[in-house]
Amino acid sequence: MTTRFRRRHPATAAIAGTCAVGLALALVTPTQAAPRGPDKEATATGHGGAVAALDPYGAQAGLEILRRGGNAVDAAVAASAALGVTRPYDGSIGGGGFMVIYSADTGEVTTIDSRETAPAAMEPDVFIDPDTGSPIPFQERRVSGLSVGVPGLVRGWEQALTDHGTMPLHRVLQPAIRLAQGGFVVDDEHQRRTENNRDIFHDFTSSRETFLVDGEAPEAGTVIRNRDLARTYRLLARHGATVFYEGEIAEAIADAVTNPPVVPGSSRNVRPGEMEVADLADYEVIEREPTATSYRGFEIYGMGPPSSGGSTVGEALNILEGFDLDELPHEEALHLLIESSALAFADRNAYLGDPSFIDIPLRGLLSDEFAAERRTLIGADASTKPLAAGDPWPYDDGTPGAAPADPATARTDGSTTHLTVADGAGNVVSYTFTIEQIGGSGITVPGYGFLLNNELTDFEPDPDHPANAPAGGKRPRSSMSPTIVLDADGAPVAAFGSPGGARIITAVLQVAVNHLDLGMSLPEAIAAPRLSNLNGPSTGTEPELIDSPVGAALTARGHQLSALTGIGNVTGVAFLPDGRLQAAAEPVRNGGGSAVVLHPDN
Ligand code: GLU
Repeated sequence: MTTRFRRRHPATAAIAGTCAVGLALALVTPTQAAPRGPDKEATATGHGGAVAALDPYGAQAGLEILRRGGNAVDAAVAASAALGVTRPYDGSIGGGGFMVIYSADTGEVTTIDSRETAPAAMEPDVFIDPDTGSPIPFQERRVSGLSVGVPGLVRGWEQALTDHGTMPLHRVLQPAIRLAQGGFVVDDEHQRRTENNRDIFHDFTSSRETFLVDGEAPEAGTVIRNRDLARTYRLLARHGATVFYEGEIAEAIADAVTNPPVVPGSSRNVRPGEMEVADLADYEVIEREPTATSYRGFEIYGMGPPSSGGSTVGEALNILEGFDLDELPHEEALHLLIESSALAFADRNAYLGDPSFIDIPLRGLLSDEFAAERRTLIGADASTKPLAAGDPWPYDDGTPGAAPADPATARTDGSTTHLTVADGAGNVVSYTFTIEQIGGSGITVPGYGFLLNNELTDFEPDPDHPANAPAGGKRPRSSMSPTIVLDADGAPVAAFGSPGGARIITAVLQVAVNHLDLGMSLPEAIAAPRLSNLNGPSTGTEPELIDSPVGAALTARGHQLSALTGIGNVTGVAFLPDGRLQAAAEPVRNGGGSAVVLHPDN
């Protein structure tokens, strides 16, 4: 849908980003000063290239590769590998992800799907307890071999570098190898996340050895190493992805899934999975068309199925395009954001899944006509939720659609990581990757230093679910929403994404509206307080909003606001009208992220 072109670039004061180099690589001794990690700024503006990540080590690794002449794809893989060391519970080679790439050469956007895939032997009723006939409780599904999907990240790196990068894998892995071998300084987030997983890690010999120190979380300010992961990365550097999918790492993964390394005497019931080495050998990355949504003169590119991110953000934007958000009181704009999110989630829950297994009315879901139909359901007051799914099929291929019988749920827990990179030539990467929960399945591959995902809990446990039931070879539906925005001339405007379970979608949607409609700079758009409705009766709302006149006005419209802190954890890069790049990360949420540019403004 294109109405009119309104590019509003916020002329915000840019904060020049300077980041210290020189990682602390030694263990603390009484005679040494306490080690410090790299400095961390949430905003950086300048030229030549930009990286925004959830952690300064990841951002610095990407910057190092840009400095050495790598492009945005090279830098994104380097940053991803570094985050696998310093943020090992959010995303790693034990998981998968989605990379959206804009090529300055061709002007085209493509996506690389390295989503985890169910082993061939997976049965639809895998998550039903045979004794009770009910779904196995979530935490038991999570901490099991059953939930582990075949990891796709390494093949994704390989394909991205081969098709879109300029450097070989062994070169971009060097910063991460140094970090894993030499060590990094634990921060409060790492300590907190380890503490939250301590009891699980304690029950696996490999996780206890890799992530705990004397059975406890390492303390913030200490230096830790992961020599097993350094060795694994060196194997990848030497042999490429083959060693991961057909060699010794494949064997170790299949063994850990089928025979989880539970500590003798542990009372934890860890169900084994059925992954075989052949499942790893068969894993394929899929390069897919992005979703594309025209919105007020911008083209919004996102991730298509099996992610629900691109279509749900796109549908909500199409609905919102019928309102002049910038001319409305903020409270009314947020009311419309809540209602459009709820409608888009009703449709997402009904229709999205793995396109290799189900027919998805993607064209219909993203059509202006379907959005217009859905928009008529929005009134001045809050609707009663959950709202029913609409029928996008008539706007797709004309097939009369059957209303879905059993819409799926939108799970809100979990975590992942997002990084955004732009290089001096104008290439852009928006990359979200994950092992699902913070700490994934809790199972570390013995001797290799990385956690396995629990991505298959993103399937509905109910085998009768029409769109997202488990099946061998299937990819579970995702909410990850790596996004790139181009202007009417095809030039990049911004790129961003977030972790946060299904709330990824609403965080990305709100940042898009803040930046593209409401005149906020990208740093302002990211920092602004968020709310999130996933088509449920209550709207998760950050404290700054809930306690404000805006919150009171939303309540007066009938919205049930429930206090929720830390919705999403966004990073992005904006392309300023004067040609500068502005990297932006969360200033506060979840400890804040890290933004760097190659040549900062002074
Ligand atoms: N498993 C989630 C998804 O693919 C990502 C992890 C998260 O919840 O943040 O949607």
